[in-house]
Amino acid sequence: MPELPEVETVRRRLEPVLVGRRFEHVEIDDARLTRPADPAEVAAELTGERVEAVERRGKYLVVRFESGRVLLIHLRMTGNVLHAPAGAPVDVSHRRAVVNLDDGSDVVYRDVRRFGTWLLVEPGDLNPYLTARLGGEPIGRTFTTKSLAAKLAGRKAPVKAALLDQRTLAGLGNIYVDEALWRARISPLKPARDLGPEQVKGLRDGIKRALDAGIARQGATLRDYRQPDGSRGSMQDEFKVYGRGGEPCPRCGTPIEKTRVAGRGTWYCPACQRSD
Ligand SMILES: [Zn+2]
Repeated sequence: MPELPEVETVRRRLEPVLVGRRFEHVEIDDARLTRPADPAEVAAELTGERVEAVERRGKYLVVRFESGRVLLIHLRMTGNVLHAPAGAPVDVSHRRAVVNLDDGSDVVYRDVRRFGTWLLVEPGDLNPYLTARLGGEPIGRTFTTKSLAAKLAGRKAPVKAALLDQRTLAGLGNIYVDEALWRARISPLKPARDLGPEQVKGLRDGIKRALDAGIARQGATLRDYRQPDGSRGSMQDEFKVYGRGGEPCPRCGTPIEKTRVAGRGTWYCPACQRSD
C-alpha cells in the first residue's frame, strides 16, 4: 500500500506535467471511485478545471485547481496515477478513469483492488476535511521531538499501533513504521507512553531517515505501486527489517523476527529492539 514516500514520489512526477494544464475531457468508469457522488457528475464538474498546484498531505494527493476546488486522490491499496505523453497508448488493464489534458497527454487512473477514492472538494472544505483525519507531517520543520512526544504521551497502545494511526502523524504505514522503529532501536510492542525522551528523539530521527530513504529511492514496489511513467521504485531492495523474517539484522546479525501488532505483520530485531 502506498505510504508517504510513494505518494510524494507520484506528486513530484505529476507536478511538472499537470500544473497549468486544463482537464479537457474526463471519463470515470468506476462508480466506486467517487461514491457516493455520481461518477458522470464528478467527471462533468472536473471538465474545464485548470491545475494550479499538485500537493500532498499524508497519503492524499491534493490537486488544486485555479477555481479553488480540489481533487483529493487516495490510492489506498493498489491505486496508480499514470501519465501518458501525447500519442502514447493509454490502454491499461484495470483502468478506472482517464483525464485528457489540453496538451494532448493523458492521466490514467488504474486500480486493481478498487479501494482508491477521488473526492471533489469545494473551496474552503479541504482543511476541515483533512484536519479531522490527519496529524502533522513527519517530514519538514514542524516535525519535532516535542511535537512527537505530545502525540505519544499517555497512550498505552504499542508504539507501532500509535504510529499507524494517521492522527498521530500523517502518511506512515506498515512498511515505514517497521523501518523507522528498527532505526530507532525501539520495540514495536513497547507502549507509546513508556518511551523516554531519548527514545522519542531517536524515533523522530528514525522516522525521518526511513522516509527520506524511501523518497530517495522513489518508493517501494512490492506489487502494484508504480511511478507515473510506469517504472518501479527501489526501496524494497533497501529494507532493513520489513519482510525479512529469518534474515540477519543488518546491524547485529540476530535473525529478524516476525510478529503481529495491531493486526499487521511486523518485523523487528529481537536484540536491537528490546521491549524492556
Ligand atoms: Zn539487531
